[in-house]
Amino acid sequence: MRLHFLGATRTVTGSQFLLETDRARVLVDCGMFQGSPHDVIRNRVPFSYAPAEIDALLLTHAHLDHCGLIPHLAGSGFRKPIYATKGTVDLTRIVLLDSAKLQEEAAESHQRFAARHAERAAAEDEETMAAFAAAAKEDPAAATRHASPGAMTGLREPLYTTADANAALALFRGVEYGAEVEIAPGIAATFLDAGHILGSAIVRVRVAQPGGDRVVVFSGDLGRPGTPIIRDPVRVASADYLVIESTYGGRTHESAEEAIRLLGEAVKLTADAKGVLLMPSFAIGRTQEVVYQLDRLFEAGTIPRIPLYLDSPMAQKATDVYRAHPGYFDEEARALVARNDSPVDYPGAVVVNSARDSQAIEQGPRPFMVVASNGMITGGRIVQHVKALVGDPAMTLLFVGYQGDGTLGAHLQQGAKSVRIDGQDLAVRCQVRSIDGFSAHADEPELLAWLSAFRRKPRTTFIVHGDPAAQAAFEPKVRALGFPTAVPVWRETAELA
Ligand SMILES: [Zn+2]
Repeated sequence: MRLHFLGATRTVTGSQFLLETDRARVLVDCGMFQGSPHDVIRNRVPFSYAPAEIDALLLTHAHLDHCGLIPHLAGSGFRKPIYATKGTVDLTRIVLLDSAKLQEEAAESHQRFAARHAERAAAEDEETMAAFAAAAKEDPAAATRHASPGAMTGLREPLYTTADANAALALFRGVEYGAEVEIAPGIAATFLDAGHILGSAIVRVRVAQPGGDRVVVFSGDLGRPGTPIIRDPVRVASADYLVIESTYGGRTHESAEEAIRLLGEAVKLTADAKGVLLMPSFAIGRTQEVVYQLDRLFEAGTIPRIPLYLDSPMAQKATDVYRAHPGYFDEEARALVARNDSPVDYPGAVVVNSARDSQAIEQGPRPFMVVASNGMITGGRIVQHVKALVGDPAMTLLFVGYQGDGTLGAHLQQGAKSVRIDGQDLAVRCQVRSIDGFSAHADEPELLAWLSAFRRKPRTTFIVHGDPAAQAAFEPKVRALGFPTAVPVWRETAELA
């Protein structure tokens, strides 16, 4: 059998792996590349296989970098079942419909721009074509010269539409954790809790081979032990081959206790100063965790009661999915449910629905707190809040998640003195603080601890889903545990004996 590495190789996005035997082809994840233009253009490079010939897709979890290309796959001829836990099925619906809408809006605005500025748009298209060709491993100059006008127009079309997303969503089949399911001739899969976000899974694939069964384990994104609400990652004891993420190779997170202490301190300072606490947050996972911690701090009497605005329609939909799956909760969260205290709600929190209500928040009496998406201030309602309040010394901008290079969030986190939003230059006078102990990913010691549970070590451990520096730091430590390793590149194929 063969394993093709089609994404998340020496980068943290675009997760996609194809396991191929003589009898079947199974995809694990089909994620979108995000971040730099160099990465994003790969979403447009044609699939390296015929989507109609794939027998099944296994989805580890609902984050866009793991599920974001599924509508594109469906729009390109894939019609077979997609297996995921029921929680992942529900969250993926939210993520894919939102992504399709963004695709359609971006294409529309690009086409409007092209209609007004034909020359500039043509120049941009040429650059895009060159990047596209480079990503497709062709000679960029030659590809641009021979590029057909049709191909150029194709780059202005949405990668997929809401109709494609709905077609893909109809293919999903919800499975239970721990139950092995036949998914293709000679191939069975088991989903194990990965403790990353609700419904997230490690996938164990058992393949019938002439010399006996082979087990290939895909870690997916591994969570941290002790993450609130959801259960800890399941420890796996054996595999013939392992594909493991390495997002935080070489790094150790701040402790959860310190993260909670810093959160409480920021709330108290805001309350005392009658100010505003603004928290940019990812809609799925982080928002629920922050609300949980605020609720715990309030219950413990550590923070005073000040109004909390939850300003993200997507986060609210995700919270509804969390609420609908108490069976996935850990013991602590279940105990709260048993006492009629929801682990994903804060007393008196105001859910902001309309964009107009969102803009009215700033006029309300102080102090107050706002949790809004998205987490890196690259879009969503958070951008307007930052625009309105970035010059206000009584506002504290509190980062509770990872800020990607080059994002507005990263600039502010690194101490920018002024920022440009919607064409306006704004002086930064607010306070800026960061907490890095709320992570949905295991850090290096936690990844190594997870690996140390293997009693029968894999023949090869493929290290994926990490930037080159993280992988370079992580690989020798994995080897030191006695695991033979490989760090595949994009579209590399490994023969598995
Ligand atoms: Zn993830």
